[in-house]
Amino acid sequence: SDFPILKRTVYGKPFIYLDNAATTQLPFTVIQAVSELYKDYNANVHRSLHYLNRKTTALLEGTREKIQKFINASNPYEIIFTRGTTESINMVAHGFKEVFIEPGDEIVVTEMEHHSNLIPWQQICKSKKALLKIIPFDDNGNLVMDVYEGMLSKKTKIVAITHVSNVLGTLNPIKKIIDLAHIKDIPVLVDAAQSIRHKIVDVAHLDCDFLCFSGHKMMAPSGIGVLYGKKRWLEKIPPLSYGGGMIESSTLYDAQFKALPYKFEAGTYNTGGIIGLKAAITYLEDIGFENIQAYESALMDYLIERLSSIKGLKFVGTPSQRIGVVSFVIEDIPSDDIAIILDQMGIAVRSGHHCAIPLLKHYNLDSCVRVSPAFYNTKEEIDTLIEALIKTSNISKNKGLKS
Ligand code: PLP
Repeated sequence: SDFPILKRTVYGKPFIYLDNAATTQLPFTVIQAVSELYKDYNANVHRSLHYLNRKTTALLEGTREKIQKFINASNPYEIIFTRGTTESINMVAHGFKEVFIEPGDEIVVTEMEHHSNLIPWQQICKSKKALLKIIPFDDNGNLVMDVYEGMLSKKTKIVAITHVSNVLGTLNPIKKIIDLAHIKDIPVLVDAAQSIRHKIVDVAHLDCDFLCFSGHKMMAPSGIGVLYGKKRWLEKIPPLSYGGGMIESSTLYDAQFKALPYKFEAGTYNTGGIIGLKAAITYLEDIGFENIQAYESALMDYLIERLSSIKGLKFVGTPSQRIGVVSFVIEDIPSDDIAIILDQMGIAVRSGHHCAIPLLKHYNLDSCVRVSPAFYNTKEEIDTLIEALIKTSNISKNKGLKS
């Protein structure tokens, strides 16, 4: 009941939202925090000296500190506001391209990356004549760790890896991956887009060098995200964008940049997004991450058990540790057809390649259906989904639906 959108109907049917890996919905407190900002104290943060500006600036810097504590970083200046995971990764990729990557160097990613954590590194390798090394996964969706260990060498300049796969749901052994890289002094970037909401990210414990995530996958507005980076790395890499707010001094022909974090925050902030992110973290903390985890994990078990009973359904991956996501295909029914028929019944899931085409190719697939529940979903909704999937199979068989 905290989420206004979940009370709506779709095509006259109760709305069942099971597409939380794509984006999560916003509780009223977050919507209210954003609307209050624009109603009461909107200003261009860090620019003017008037009352509204001082208020928004304090709120923004307060959010930075909240995020610092949330992920257990040592310093607020290691928290950089971005547009989202994609921009955060591109910032690091650009910086490494400019400063560290030489022909013959190697960058390590996995076969299960979202395009956001594959294409930036792939394109750097192409333009710098570096080598992209890919950690494979087995058919269950678990990374082949022996191959990873053998891959790390003096040539490896960075390991960039997803914490949780957005298609398989695999929870990767990220601590082990980081520890192995650090033995050889190799920095590690963690794509936490799918894990951040589950509060399993503690950068002090993980000791990762970079962490990237998006607000919209943790009940905050879209267009806001975070790059966490260790000071020693952030100080060495140049920013992706230049402009207002990040300049210490300038002439027509040269400029000095501000210290961290501002060096990476050119242009006007997405203040609404930032205030919304703060409210979202507060909302999640108030429910309690342990409560959320316990509820969601039981719901996932129930979902997988019920899906297993559907004739012709094949899971895409059965990883040993899974969080938040399950994907599947049903024999002889195109995945888009399943999603479209479910939509007509008021149920939102995602079909397609999920921005991970190489991952799907591992299973010889172009498309699959993904169901990703959150703590606001219920067992009754899962039951409705299962009934709808059975109906979909029947419609498809009766009508010979093929495209
Ligand atoms: N990485 C993973 C694992 C994702 O699931 C996503 C989004 O689905 C992204 C990166 C990109 O996130 P954004 O589009 O918010 O930048």
